[in-house]
Amino acid sequence: MPRVVDALATIRSSRFDLPLTYDAQAFELQIGDVVRVPLGSREVLAYVVTAPYDAPADPKRKAVLERLDVPRAFDDEGLHLARFVAEYYICTLGEALSAVVLAGALPRTIDSFVRTVAQPNPQRYPSVPARLVRLIWEELGDGFALETLLRHPDARRAGDRGTLLRYIQTLVRSGELRRERRFVQPKTTAYRVRVLFAGKASIRGGKAQALVAFVREQPGVPRADALLAGFSNAVIARAVKTGAIDEREVEPAHTRSYAPLSDAAFPATAEQRAALERLDAALDARAFAELLLFGVTGSGKTYVYVEAIKRVVREGGRAIVLVPEISLTPQTARRFEAGFGDRVAVLHSALSERERFDAWQACARGEIDVLVGARSAIFAPLRNVRLCVVDEAHETSYKQETVPRYHALTVARERMRAAGGVLVLGSATPPLESYEAALRGKIELVTMRERATAQPMPSVHVVDLAKEFESGNKRIFSTTLTQALGERIARGEKTVLFVNRRGSGGFILCRSCGHVPQCPRCDVSLTAHRGEGLLRCHYCDFQMPLARKCPECGLETIREFGVGTERVVEEVGRLFPDARVVRMDSDTTTRVGDHARLLTEFGERGDVLVGTQMVAKGLDFPTVTLAGVVAADVGLHIPDFRAAERSFDLIAQVCGRSGRAQAGEAIVQTYSPTHPAIVYAAKHDYDGFARGDLAQRRELRYPPFSLLVYLGVISRSRKTALDVSGRYAELLRGANAGEVLGPAPYPIARVNNEWRFRLAVKTRTPKPLRAAIRGELVPLARADRETRLVINVNP
Ligand SMILES: [Zn+2]
Ligand SMILES: [Zn+2]
Repeated sequence: MPRVVDALATIRSSRFDLPLTYDAQAFELQIGDVVRVPLGSREVLAYVVTAPYDAPADPKRKAVLERLDVPRAFDDEGLHLARFVAEYYICTLGEALSAVVLAGALPRTIDSFVRTVAQPNPQRYPSVPARLVRLIWEELGDGFALETLLRHPDARRAGDRGTLLRYIQTLVRSGELRRERRFVQPKTTAYRVRVLFAGKASIRGGKAQALVAFVREQPGVPRADALLAGFSNAVIARAVKTGAIDEREVEPAHTRSYAPLSDAAFPATAEQRAALERLDAALDARAFAELLLFGVTGSGKTYVYVEAIKRVVREGGRAIVLVPEISLTPQTARRFEAGFGDRVAVLHSALSERERFDAWQACARGEIDVLVGARSAIFAPLRNVRLCVVDEAHETSYKQETVPRYHALTVARERMRAAGGVLVLGSATPPLESYEAALRGKIELVTMRERATAQPMPSVHVVDLAKEFESGNKRIFSTTLTQALGERIARGEKTVLFVNRRGSGGFILCRSCGHVPQCPRCDVSLTAHRGEGLLRCHYCDFQMPLARKCPECGLETIREFGVGTERVVEEVGRLFPDARVVRMDSDTTTRVGDHARLLTEFGERGDVLVGTQMVAKGLDFPTVTLAGVVAADVGLHIPDFRAAERSFDLIAQVCGRSGRAQAGEAIVQTYSPTHPAIVYAAKHDYDGFARGDLAQRRELRYPPFSLLVYLGVISRSRKTALDVSGRYAELLRGANAGEVLGPAPYPIARVNNEWRFRLAVKTRTPKPLRAAIRGELVPLARADRETRLVINVNP
């Protein structure tokens, strides 16, 4: 019988989302190989998704044309995870593989054209200008690439591009040109790192001089670290060009010429040793186990991870450490490099696509023992992974919000389950699903209650803003916060202020006529950004000038409501004109390295750091003795069953920033001082909060007491979105696939002129629901050109 393989086209198209079987006699193929195959009337690249197997001869079956000489796009484990993601999150295998295969892994397709006749037939295409005809038939060499043609200086006039594309198509159809397709294969190179040394030449400019000083302090520092430290590509390139900086490519082993951070600052605490013993026991058992390492902020969880990984590596195993993107700083890298030298690879946002690909390949070749990275690192082609750590397991960034909408924690669990390894989740505020599993004894709970520095948790004061308002204080800072802030500034201690919203305020309201400017494309009010003099939409980035007069009634009675980062910065400046304030939000951190640069600025000379979510995370400054939540209510009342959990996490994380090395304090301002998320966060009582919230979820059958699937229907027409989602709801109700709620509009019903309705389906038996969605809804949605279906499992 002939040997065959199944191969899946790499192109993302709903028409080709199933693997096809091809004869594979001529090649030695394995899973993950990239091959060229016929598909319909064309040739495409495809991934091999089965090992070769025997099948009865079939004259209609086509054969693999070529095995490309490129590294495998994935290994058996990667394929297994992709199949799992496709099944669990209800997407196609191709969509799931797009998370597994790195962008750099696929060859580029280049089309070129060869003339088969000496002259074109001029009568046949009279509308093409003579100069463009000349270009193709006289000026370009034979076998010219499409790119070369479109970029030619003589083809730059308006409309040329379209004309040429149509002309080429006609010529190919008439046979006057022959299309030749070529695949340019990605280069496989050793995993190299670009490092910087100080050069001989001098250079002008403050930023460039700071770069030279930075490099002189740490000769051999990786270029990526300089980017993370806030130096732009342009500055580095200029310094290299002028000779002020020397850039070399070296193997990763040679990047450690500058001193890594040492972890030996504190001896291990009793709790750390106990946690390590539990982890050792789990590793001894050589079977799948899941541990929840529940440790307060500053309890030294990283030490436990590093020691456990050391043991795994000593025994010939490997480990993956997932951290939130925002924690992927040089500091994180150093802690792991200190333990594992050149056998560690850190995948962070400052790496180029090529560098990521090289690191990935180094994993596949077995040169890496420890991989540290954000959520996608869970798919890395690392063999014999015996330990997987998910740090800050409650972080929302582990869930991917585009297809495939996977959660890295769920994928990590499947990976360790299949491999018989150990999964460790670390958090100060564990995801409620995991905590519930721990309470039931389904996973192991390891608790660390003390900070490694032996500092107590900060004392938290809750300020009732309603009372503050009654007593006549209409400002955004309560008397308590103002006073505490003043004391810190006077003593030279640092303060972190957390605000939910960027910009200067919330929405704008005219006090005379009640007009609230709305985004014309979305169902939200616009946010004021006074610094830029703009009103902006935070969903589609629509912008309009921020006028002083009301566009409706023309009076100057416009007022801002709500509080944003810009406004808080202003208020600090008004109260304490000498204070040095640093603002950190997505407006001030648009480039790689901005985040680290602002933190350095704050660490070296800032008094107050004002920011959104990002200030709540991983920030560790010993001299911060005050943390403030300016308005804890935003986010508390949004219609999402996780709203309370998110608020609790945030408040707890913000408070945890204070008093890491000396006694600290935290102040939470709110209009809802009795809300459980606030009451428990102020008492540092995660357990109390978790039990209360879980009881509510049990009653309402929300996860972890059910599987929840959101099915969104999106359309340019409101009526179509509503009608179609209504039909889907009936269909699912008919299929008895669970409790179907809706259709209801999304919390924001219209974004970028598209209407969005959604069904929520809760079930305890996910199988029939998945089958109904895959078997009935997805085919319907594919056939419908007016709507898009968005499937989000465990949102
Ligand atoms: Zn908008
Ligand atoms: Zn008005």
